[in-house]
Amino acid sequence: MGNETSKEELTRIWRKALDYIEVELNNQRSFDAYFDQTKLMSLSETVATISAGSKIAARILSENEGFVSLTIKALKNVTQTEYSPRFIDETSYSKKMKVDPVRVSTETSPFFSSSITNKDYNFDNFVTGPSNMDAYRAAVLAVSNPNAMNPIFIYSGTGFGKTHLLNAIANSYPAQHPGAKVLYTNTDQFIDEFVKYATGNSDSEAFKQYFKSLDILLLDDIQFLKGKCGTSAFFFNIFNSMINAGKQIVITSDRRPAELDGLEDRLVSRFACGLSVSMSKPQPDTMLDILKIKISSLGMDLKLFDEDSLQYLVNHNPGNVRSMEGDLKKLLFLSAASQNTGKIDLEYCRQAFADRKGKGSGERDPINAGKIINAVCSYYNVTETQVKSKIRTLQIAMARQISMYLCRTMLDMSFKDIGKEFGRDHSTVMSAVSKIGDQAKSDRSMQASLTEIQKRISAKSVAKSS
Ligand code: ADP
Ligand code: MG
Repeated sequence: MGNETSKEELTRIWRKALDYIEVELNNQRSFDAYFDQTKLMSLSETVATISAGSKIAARILSENEGFVSLTIKALKNVTQTEYSPRFIDETSYSKKMKVDPVRVSTETSPFFSSSITNKDYNFDNFVTGPSNMDAYRAAVLAVSNPNAMNPIFIYSGTGFGKTHLLNAIANSYPAQHPGAKVLYTNTDQFIDEFVKYATGNSDSEAFKQYFKSLDILLLDDIQFLKGKCGTSAFFFNIFNSMINAGKQIVITSDRRPAELDGLEDRLVSRFACGLSVSMSKPQPDTMLDILKIKISSLGMDLKLFDEDSLQYLVNHNPGNVRSMEGDLKKLLFLSAASQNTGKIDLEYCRQAFADRKGKGSGERDPINAGKIINAVCSYYNVTETQVKSKIRTLQIAMARQISMYLCRTMLDMSFKDIGKEFGRDHSTVMSAVSKIGDQAKSDRSMQASLTEIQKRISAKSVAKSS
């Protein structure tokens, strides 16, 4: 404690360390993406705490052995000491340091200390589309007009943004209701706290009082309450007293209230008094916007990604934001590790995910060449026989080339296999794919057609798989 390194000294050390890292890394894009935003926050005896600029950057840096060992080397070079680096998200660091007034009230209580809201999930970076607009509106309502609809119940399949929305409520509520006490918690944590405090003796009264002091309760994944009779009865009491006192409650679940079997009926029937909204699979254009937001939030420049590569990520994860984010991170890792300094384009994606070749777009994805051709034909009003024939009229040739392009980008098929589908050789397919790819970059009407066709293909597969 006594000999804490001064801010100026930390800045000086880190500037030198960064110079070292930049030279050693020898990859400007990786450096700009991961290290440029970093700051050395503190040095303890053995640990160097480094702010990474964002939570995701912090994760990427911590999980990449190369980055970690390079950081150790750089610090050792400057300070002659071996520190183990701890990459953190600056926003959460400064939040902890500054102690904002809303946190004070919750932090004095021992309850739900592990239920921390995710500051990266906001309304601003929540992309809206037909699949989630109702839920988004309901969430905004909980902040702007608490108790107008109470409770608000949001249900959807996994990865469609429930946790994001609940955190967005938690993050924006205090600004509109200064001094308000907000609890965001997952049902698992809720059960843990219940077991810890309410079933014991001494704290149970304080625990009940704690809920009385809340202004808004955000409970994530209520389906986990299934079969937990004690917790469920306890929650029923809290629920009633909060609703009666006009305090907002927002609940999420992976299924609609009526399907929450194993949960007390009297509780479920109360949910019906409020507003129930669902979210469905995001459509390709919503997915694309989400992808763009995720790329920017990683501090990456969107220009580094070819439009084709973005489409590739969307198409290979139909409606699945979580796996799309996973693929994006994999690409960035590989790109950094291979010291790729060029753009990330379609070919780069194909190589990165070569192990999935042939499986099409994700494990459960039912898209195949036949469905693509079918959707293209119906869009251009031509027949499959025509598309597979030698006829070269404009409309038919266009449908053929677009089908080939989509087989390549959506299914990762080899040029040869695509050729077989259409009775063409692989060089014909190659030039069709590159021609449509070029047009997709500059020609807006081509972009619109491709988007619409892909939407139809995905819509069909959604209907199939649900
Ligand atoms: P759920 O809780 O429904 O399983 P999450 O809220 O955890 O889903 O979302 C999974 C990931 O997808 C998160 O990173 C989240 O930010 C992102 N995500 C989902 N929907 C959207 C959206 N509409 N806009 C921005 N990000 C989204
Ligand atoms: Mg969730």
